[in-house]
Amino acid sequence: MDTRTYTVDFDVQHIRKDFPILHQIVHGYPLAYFDNAATTQKPQCVIDTIVNYYTHLNSNIHRGVHYLSEQSTNLYEEARKTVQQFINAQYSQEVIFTSGTTAAINAVAFSFGERFVKEGDEIVISAMEHHANIVPWQMMCERKGARLKVIPIDNKGEILFDEYLKLLTPKVKLVAVTHVSNVLGTINPIEKIIDTAHNHNIPVLIDGAQSVQHIPIDVQALDCDFFVFSGHKIYGPTGIGILYGKEKWLNEMPPYQGGGDMVDCVTFEKTTYNDLPLKFEAGTTNFIGAIGLAEAIRYLTRIGLDKVGKYENQLLAYAKEKLSSFERIQFYGTAPKKGPVISFLIDGIHPYDTGMVLDKLGIAVRTGTHCAQPLMDFFDIDGTVRVSLSFYNTFEEIDRLTQGIKKVIDMFG
Ligand code: PMP
Repeated sequence: MDTRTYTVDFDVQHIRKDFPILHQIVHGYPLAYFDNAATTQKPQCVIDTIVNYYTHLNSNIHRGVHYLSEQSTNLYEEARKTVQQFINAQYSQEVIFTSGTTAAINAVAFSFGERFVKEGDEIVISAMEHHANIVPWQMMCERKGARLKVIPIDNKGEILFDEYLKLLTPKVKLVAVTHVSNVLGTINPIEKIIDTAHNHNIPVLIDGAQSVQHIPIDVQALDCDFFVFSGHKIYGPTGIGILYGKEKWLNEMPPYQGGGDMVDCVTFEKTTYNDLPLKFEAGTTNFIGAIGLAEAIRYLTRIGLDKVGKYENQLLAYAKEKLSSFERIQFYGTAPKKGPVISFLIDGIHPYDTGMVLDKLGIAVRTGTHCAQPLMDFFDIDGTVRVSLSFYNTFEEIDRLTQGIKKVIDMFG
């Protein structure tokens, strides 16, 4: 590896010791895990937190006066505060636990839609959205007789800002865009997107599923109205996610699920609802997931998200340089500001074949449409090979990826 231009100020070997899953042999080779945009691996402290919880503390929250239930409730509400601090929300009740990004977007689409969207209104998304930030809005539009408008992008994978401005009419009730594209890596100019929408009194939802693990988030500085992300993509457990919403919106929005915990008083004639945040947390939530997520956030914060971002950018630059040496590689997503995601195709070789050969070398990449079929249609392709990096990846693993791709080209001619 040529480290002349890559000043590595990051003890990655030390970090890797925290992730037991990384130290295994796959098909006779050490695992090189490059599928971090799909889900991240878990540090030992998160695994220990979950084991310890089930071993010593398991009890349902909010409903008991006994010792275990109180301990559980405290840990759950502390977890909410940990998330609040992590994204700098003004109030802890603005942090709602959901099962993930998808559930959080569906919650807003349903609840915001019920309260604020009527026939003839419009919702604006971008052409690079994950299905999770397309389909819930389509369902809502169908229910309400509203229309979905799409901000176009260019061949580099950047949104066309002038076109965005043209879409901001009085009919628009919400703008929902991804911070970082899970396919292209593009970091969207969300500050500008939010400011401009607010100039037209339009609220904005940011899909942070691919940003929150790489870029420090301050929802108050951004002034976004909603921000959503998933625990499993930020080194926490699966089945837990966050819906951040400004209190003023969440207070006005009706609950989208009914059941225990979200109620104040229930009679057969009429039910009144609980205050935030419980109004949006019906039934037994994934409280252990929330506690695990808080541990993951503490872990990441201890390392330092700034440091993580810098190291990942160096990995990204190195991987791009290495893969660019193959003339037959075509990249998708070449915006100057990118998260650590590289999508590509090797001319004449199906992405599935590339993925299969790399797998046999112990290298895990993702192939397919990455839940972004409209984006694939835009580029007129069936799918890509996606390499998504984390701070536990190494320059040596990227060298192995490069050798693997050489092998793919040799094999398939
Ligand atoms: N949005 C983006 C940008 C994503 O990358 C993903 C996951 N690939 C999602 C939403 C959905 O996340 P989840 O499946 O965790 O709900």
